[in-house]
Amino acid sequence: MLAVRIINFSDKMTKKNIYVTQPYLPPLEEFIPYLEQIWESKFLTNGGPFHEQLERALCKFLGVEHIALFTNGTIALVTALQALRITGEVITTPYSFVATSHSLLWNGIKPVFVDVDPNTLNLDPEKIEAAITPQTTAIMPVHCYGHPCDVNAIQKIADNYNLKVIYDAAHAFGVQDAQGSILRYGDLSVLSFHATKVFNTFEGGAIVCPDAKTKTRIDQLKNFGHVGEVTVVAPGINGKMSEFNAALGLLQLKHLDKALTKRKEIDAAYRDRLKGVKGIRCLDEAGEKVSNYSYFPILVEPDYPISRDELNQQFKDSGIYPRRYFYPLISNYPMYRGLPSAHKENLPEATIAAQRVLCLPIYPDLDLSVVDEISCFIASRTTKPVCFAEDAK
Ligand SMILES: *Cc1c(COP(=O)(O)O)cnc(C)c1O
Repeated sequence: MLAVRIINFSDKMTKKNIYVTQPYLPPLEEFIPYLEQIWESKFLTNGGPFHEQLERALCKFLGVEHIALFTNGTIALVTALQALRITGEVITTPYSFVATSHSLLWNGIKPVFVDVDPNTLNLDPEKIEAAITPQTTAIMPVHCYGHPCDVNAIQKIADNYNLKVIYDAAHAFGVQDAQGSILRYGDLSVLSFHATKVFNTFEGGAIVCPDAKTKTRIDQLKNFGHVGEVTVVAPGINGKMSEFNAALGLLQLKHLDKALTKRKEIDAAYRDRLKGVKGIRCLDEAGEKVSNYSYFPILVEPDYPISRDELNQQFKDSGIYPRRYFYPLISNYPMYRGLPSAHKENLPEATIAAQRVLCLPIYPDLDLSVVDEISCFIASRTTKPVCFAEDAK
């Protein structure tokens, strides 16, 4: 039985590498009618019919009031900070994709890094207060891997110190807590629809905002600051989503439930297979009621026989490419490491996480047999390696 699986697996390996993710694409023929409509109408961008439909469809799907679509998540982050006129210092997490902090630098804002909670790998609310100075104007947390931040604790601090909260919710599409969408919290939440995300429009992003007035302001900022034909009210940017991307988004939405179900199965399979493997910890949920299973991070603890990096290398040698999200920490990149808050001593938990986390492949088209083999490979490092044909010889 095992031998059969071994042969199948190595067979697969010779044909095709397995990456941490693979973008979900709907059947091409289903997209053609959308393209025909675009060619017919000649409406390519600037808030065309598909753009309008996608905004409405996403509000409904996500359970939010207002959404402004963007060309990508990073421009949306930059614009969110502009919309709220954030200046000075912003408290943020070093444990994220680098775009989180880059959006601050693009606004001339100084990032102040605060450590993460070792259980959720999200910004630790207990450490935020000590980092606040008279220059602090906002907090920018990340719902890392789609696990919700401690939104109530963060809001309480923000209220006490009159700070804005902008969530980088790039991982949190569709995530809900007991009350509803996680995107309702804070002043603004920013989504990414990049190819690697749970919901993709090739490239794309959005800002979820609480009221129509803020959405109007954001819509102006993403269109050069134009209000009317001859009025420009701010040095806005070109952040508009095109009709091509919006149309694709509408089609992707039709397939999303199916894709999420597949992700859920894979998540459950990994958890089941890795249960009880010494030295491997699967990151738990953080109070979400509906997950999006966007990532499958494991922590390779010190009692595992080999290091995270050795395990990663062995996978690569076998044609499997997990990712060390997020290594290095943002605070270790050259444009950040001179900041006082970037010191390792200030960020012990984030530093440990960056050394231990490995994100395993998870995407709707990933075969459960491959999940089995990946899990078996991890488990077998603690005993006798038997999962790959070469090992079995
Ligand atoms: C993907 C991502 C972004 C950037 O989004 P783009 O759409 O690629 O610009 C920002 N923050 C986090 C946490 C991300 O994962």
